[in-house]
Amino acid sequence: MGIAGQLAIEDRSQSIPATMLAAVYRGVNEVRLETVPVPQIGAGELLLRVHTCGVCGTDLKKIASGSHSAPRIFGHETSGVVAAIGAGVKNFEPGDRIVVFHHIPCRQCYYCRYKTFAQCPTYKKVGCTAGFEPSGGGFAEYARVMDWIVEQGTVKIPAGVSFEQACFVEPVNTCMKGIEALRLEPGETVLTIGQGPIGIILSVLARKAGATVITSDLYPERLRIAKSLGFEHIIDASQSDAVRAVRERTEGRGADAVILAVGSNALIRPAMDAARPGGRVLLFAQTQRGEVVVDPAAICVDEKALVGSYSASVDLQEESVRFVMNREMDLERLISHRFPLQEGPRALELAANPQPSSMKVVIQPGTAWNRQTREGSQQ
Ligand SMILES: [Zn+2]
Ligand SMILES: [Zn+2]
Repeated sequence: MGIAGQLAIEDRSQSIPATMLAAVYRGVNEVRLETVPVPQIGAGELLLRVHTCGVCGTDLKKIASGSHSAPRIFGHETSGVVAAIGAGVKNFEPGDRIVVFHHIPCRQCYYCRYKTFAQCPTYKKVGCTAGFEPSGGGFAEYARVMDWIVEQGTVKIPAGVSFEQACFVEPVNTCMKGIEALRLEPGETVLTIGQGPIGIILSVLARKAGATVITSDLYPERLRIAKSLGFEHIIDASQSDAVRAVRERTEGRGADAVILAVGSNALIRPAMDAARPGGRVLLFAQTQRGEVVVDPAAICVDEKALVGSYSASVDLQEESVRFVMNREMDLERLISHRFPLQEGPRALELAANPQPSSMKVVIQPGTAWNRQTREGSQQ
């Protein structure tokens, strides 16, 4: 790093402390609040002061299954303020409000050429960290954003858009990618099983693609939110058989496409049954490896297609940013619980054991800002 660059950082980073709070994953179902060093940044990198970070189902599965080594600091739906910049960073300066993607593909490898970006080896490298093995770092006060993310995966938040709204850019992108995989045509009927925050976003995007959307969930609270967003065809799966209800509404055929936005593998069979012959079923939440029984004739004879979608697409980055920043959907409404970072472990606990009334859970180191700094007043 050049001397000028270092001086600039020192000048601007006077208020950056040496240590910070973080929710540290220490092993299966063990996340502790700890004091850790504030990450150092190098040339081309940013230090992000985290305001809001959404809790994602994939974080919860990693914590519950021990699929990843410990220690780590998770959290990848992160919005906040640039606290410091490394030498050579031109497009951002301290004080900018930003949201970051934590994965960006190389765009050159075999997988990228076929647009299966989530399978790209570069994409699998995580470009944001709050310390330890890079894992997102949003569940901490500060996160280091690495150079390739600064160049291609960092987005400024326009004035008037909140940190809460902005932290949905990545989840919205993943939902757009899932909808694209279904190749919906206007007039088709889609059943979305599960009306948690992701199921609702998927339903809104399916409707935007011209489909008639039927939503189902076990919790009346969630169906009420779906209804308030204008979804008229609602199935209370605790009361009625969703497969039969969908067939009744489609002249006995079944839905043209079914979106499974619930992690339970037991719902794969009913999702297949709810699709019409020749229809498509999207597995959106089946992120754990395992085995399930499927009827092979449903795929061969009935020509139903089972498709999957995971993580974000760089090709949909601009579209997802536009959708969120233009407030095409009021995403803040999907947040049911906001926790300060001090209560991070409790936030993860609640998100892992959702209540009927819980939707999106966010951890907000930024709740402490108002009394500490000027940035808080910018929101
Ligand atoms: Zn996520
Ligand atoms: Zn690649």
